[in-house]
Amino acid sequence: MKLDTLKHKGKRNQLVNLLRQKGITDEVVLNAVNQVPRHIFIDSIFEDLSYEDRAFPILSGQTISHPYTVAFQTQLLHVQKGEKVLEIGTGSGYQTAVLIALGAQVYTIERQKELFEFSKNILKKIHFSPKFQTFGDGYQGLPSFAPFDKIIVTAGAPTMPKKLLEQLSIGGVMVIPIGDKEQKMYTVLKLDENTFETLEFGDYQFVPMLENREIG
Ligand code: SAH
Repeated sequence: MKLDTLKHKGKRNQLVNLLRQKGITDEVVLNAVNQVPRHIFIDSIFEDLSYEDRAFPILSGQTISHPYTVAFQTQLLHVQKGEKVLEIGTGSGYQTAVLIALGAQVYTIERQKELFEFSKNILKKIHFSPKFQTFGDGYQGLPSFAPFDKIIVTAGAPTMPKKLLEQLSIGGVMVIPIGDKEQKMYTVLKLDENTFETLEFGDYQFVPMLENREIG
């Protein structure tokens, strides 16, 4: 396995400073980013670029999000230690590890079989353990583990997924990019079973949130 060298740590510090300059203000989130060896989640050919604020291709035609996007979504979640967080779109497992570094109990779903296996393997190797990790369709959420204090969606959803809103606890927050080719970031605060407060934040580009599992 790739090592986490002093050189990597130095570059990670620089990335954290860049994220601060770009407007990430939550030091708890920045500290979590500083704890996760991003280069380990990325193909070796991009290793030297791992700590730049860039997205990279991962398996199954998917992408690991920009560090800024990961930090921004995480900042919007306001995770407290011990909270139950549902993540839709495990992908490489990088965002999962950042949530675990914050002390969240993470439940994560991925619809691509090879990414499910890849991320499971890596998270185990670096000792960042989700509470529950599964190969499934995020549109269904995880009803048997609901409700969740927080839900984070890391793929672009065409519309607000109803089942995920149902699985949010009262007072809970979901962070989700919504839109077809381009997305706007939203936070949804659940005030009671039928009342939600939605806020909109800037434009982003994500791979699409698709239905059903993909075995290939
Ligand atoms: N957080 C990831 C981002 C990966 S890109 C990372 O840091 O690497 C988004 C991921 O969402 C892709 O892996 C894609 O396969 C997955 N995805 C898309 N639709 C999904 C669904 N319905 N359920 C679960 N995962 C889904």
